[in-house]
Amino acid sequence: MSRVYNFSAGPAVLPVEVLQEAADEMLDYKGCGMSVMEMSHRSKVYETIITEAEADLRTLLNIPDNYKVLFLQGGASTQFAMIPMNFMKHRKAGYIVTGQWAKKAFAEGKIYGEAVELASSADKTFSYIPDCSDLPITDDMDYVYICENNTIYGTKFKTLPNTKGRDLIADVSSCFLSEPVDVTKYAMLYAGAQKNVGPAGVTICIIRDDLITEDVLPGTPTMLRYKIHADNGSMYNTPPAYAIYICGKVFKWLLKTGGLEKRKEINEAKAKILYDFLDSSQLFKGTVEPASRSLMNVPFITGDADLDAKFIKESKAAGFENLKGHRTVGGMRASIYNAMPVEGVEALVEFMKKFEAENK
Ligand SMILES: *Cc1c(COP(=O)(O)O)cnc(C)c1O
Repeated sequence: MSRVYNFSAGPAVLPVEVLQEAADEMLDYKGCGMSVMEMSHRSKVYETIITEAEADLRTLLNIPDNYKVLFLQGGASTQFAMIPMNFMKHRKAGYIVTGQWAKKAFAEGKIYGEAVELASSADKTFSYIPDCSDLPITDDMDYVYICENNTIYGTKFKTLPNTKGRDLIADVSSCFLSEPVDVTKYAMLYAGAQKNVGPAGVTICIIRDDLITEDVLPGTPTMLRYKIHADNGSMYNTPPAYAIYICGKVFKWLLKTGGLEKRKEINEAKAKILYDFLDSSQLFKGTVEPASRSLMNVPFITGDADLDAKFIKESKAAGFENLKGHRTVGGMRASIYNAMPVEGVEALVEFMKKFEAENK
């Protein structure tokens, strides 16, 4: 068996221990004589899997009792519509546009009401997080929306916006469980699993329970109401059972390896290795303003498209996969999620140094 260093932005690297355990349990899950993907989601065995997954997630994030945890489908992108359908009761909400995912959520919000762009970093190709200390937020806005870590552009909110008392809703897909967060600062946070916690197919939503009501916009389909999923313990219909099982294993791995305080330390150390090199390199440079740098997604360029292409080709041959930047931005991007070992980042920097020496 040989494993590459996989810098994919998503679906992305998972802990080897988790994959190994899943492999060991593939044909016979704990003496059931069947795989988790073959069993009824209503069985006792599966009930234990989903219950433990939720309990472990609650422990990791210290989620208060008045927040519901939902395991939903449709990817993070379905939330772009579910959020206004369920929460835009006065048909007005504020959006902070810091990249493509926020832009898509903003566009979806406009379908249901008055979506107001409160701030944007489009003027400098989303390379920074705008000052959000005093935004034109009004009392008639149902919520303020952000994408907390911008997977494509590599920026991250280091402080949450001042929402002037309005509810904050955050897409945390690409920074979920990368560090501790204070859940009480959010009305809702959600993440598609395939960036930092598991396989594609499940989206984890954490929502303050007073927000989950029957009062949704007219025409909202049953499957797109948070209440139906909350009332049925994420089992109104068949949940993405196998994906939840793998996420549960990742939660246990995070708990076993020291929880989110420790994870943050590791992630900061890992990111520092790469950013320090980018700051000292004569060839490569980071594209994000230092104060807004993500710990998870690190875009960089040489400034020469041909040299970028050469780097991507040679890095792939050397066992570093998926370093090509997003198709809309070009250049390179190293996604260094929780499961990327520090050795992977160190090896990448060594490779970059060698490439730099050879291409001066
Ligand atoms: C990948 C990503 C999405 C889209 O996720 P899907 O599950 O493909 O819908 C949304 N937001 C962020 C921040 C992402 O990184």
